[in-house]
Amino acid sequence: MEQVVEIKCPKCKKMVNRDLVVRKKYVCSECGYYFRVKVNNRIRMVADPKTFTPWFEDMPVCNPLKYEGYEEKLAETREKTGTDEAVTVGQCKVFGEDAVLGICESRFLMGSMGHVVGEKVTRMIEKATELKLPVFLFCCSGGARMQEGIISLMQMAKTSAAIKKHSEAGLLYCTILTDPTTGGVTASFAMLGDVIMAEPGALIGFAGPRVIEQTIGQKLPEGFQTSEFLLEHGFIDGIVLRENLKKTIYFLIKTHQCREGNYADFQKNLDVHFQLNEIMKERSWLDIPRTAWEKVKAVRQVDRPAATDYMQYIFDFFVEAHGDRYYRDDAAIVGGVAFVDGQPVTVIADIKGKDFKECQKRNFGMPMPEGYRKALRLMKQAEKFNRPIISFVNTSGAFCGIEAEERGQGEAIARNLLEMSSLKVPVLCILIGEGGSGGALATAVGNEVWMMENATYSILSPEGFASILWKDSNKAKEASEVMNITAEDLKRLGVIEQIIPEFGGADKKSVESIGGYMKEQIKLFLERYSGMSGEEIAEQRYQRFRAF
Ligand SMILES: [Zn+2]
Repeated sequence: MEQVVEIKCPKCKKMVNRDLVVRKKYVCSECGYYFRVKVNNRIRMVADPKTFTPWFEDMPVCNPLKYEGYEEKLAETREKTGTDEAVTVGQCKVFGEDAVLGICESRFLMGSMGHVVGEKVTRMIEKATELKLPVFLFCCSGGARMQEGIISLMQMAKTSAAIKKHSEAGLLYCTILTDPTTGGVTASFAMLGDVIMAEPGALIGFAGPRVIEQTIGQKLPEGFQTSEFLLEHGFIDGIVLRENLKKTIYFLIKTHQCREGNYADFQKNLDVHFQLNEIMKERSWLDIPRTAWEKVKAVRQVDRPAATDYMQYIFDFFVEAHGDRYYRDDAAIVGGVAFVDGQPVTVIADIKGKDFKECQKRNFGMPMPEGYRKALRLMKQAEKFNRPIISFVNTSGAFCGIEAEERGQGEAIARNLLEMSSLKVPVLCILIGEGGSGGALATAVGNEVWMMENATYSILSPEGFASILWKDSNKAKEASEVMNITAEDLKRLGVIEQIIPEFGGADKKSVESIGGYMKEQIKLFLERYSGMSGEEIAEQRYQRFRAF
């Protein structure tokens, strides 16, 4: 008779069927807890069967401080875990694509980083640079290995330097943070990914909870230093479920290659589609806007289609990235990578929200400095990987408030203007609703700027204009007529290149036609710039704005 083996879940404390947990990729069948995964099981989760070739095994033992008992401890740990050190590195295939894989092992002295770990990670990255391959590194660590003292500390600088060279070669480096990732590893190779993912519920931090509590004498709040906490605070791009792990890695490999036929073989290998999570809401549209004032009112309607509504008809497999890596993830600006007919692109979009709850979450589409910093981070990444940028602009303006000022709203906008001016990839900006002042311009420095038929773009709101020039904000309607804020006005002034028709007014019925039209125009845009060098593209954009 077959024996049912049960194991105890550390989180819910229930006894669960081991086979079931294994089938669920080491996730508790009762509470969804993510069990820590041994190296070999992790390889099975990610690599195509029998494709993993380990690199740099049999590194000599290192005991730089001649720490007593350390070598015995290592020998014992090797015996117990069946692995040489706290990291395993090597090459494998992911759905047929070559990738370099590094996996830290928490059972090996808490995944602590000594000379051998630092050396293996460094050699792995150097070899990946040589072979021009992307690197995916699963991190978990208690920090530096105390027995190796200062030599352990030096591994942080050494690994980071190798990552810098890999990055300068235009190659993709991604980290997947698993439970727990702390200390010197967090302060070096774990947080340096072009894309940083984390498993749900993982403990991630520089100083671990025990250290903090002992230092400041305070208990930490529930959920502090979890993956979810890091996502909210803008430090990681997203949380990846084990069931999606391999697909996500594959998606990242494909969106970071620039070659023909990308999407066709991408699609071939995937059965589950990545979806946009925004839900299209019912709306009714009463009037087709005509006058400037009517347009102002129309674009302020919360149920005017959002960028994400059009995006469904333009892009395949949009995957959102999160965070500015400094302070927070600003939901007023959404960004990520997508395919448009086989071509990987970076997408940036202001999103206002549709119902009250979403509007609150997205701050009514008024970005904070961290929103602009996220956009810039993603645009710089697009430049590194030679991906064109499509930016959908729709904001009444940058958020005005204490927090925004404290975190440098002016600097954030200025930085974007400066950096966007010299991006060596084509940038297309489409104003789809309100284009409010500097807050809109901060993501609208394009080689071409297009506007939807009924969109508006202005130095400030008509109310503000009336109040400054005529000391009467009630004259907003009159102001809107003289401000030249409509697409026709701006085309005449040379501020935009192209007007996107709305087929009777942007609404739920026309969104598919508008999205389809945009897609065709975007493909033509990409074609126009495909033969140009990065320098030519940047120079063209410079001259475009120089002309004003
Ligand atoms: Zn459980």
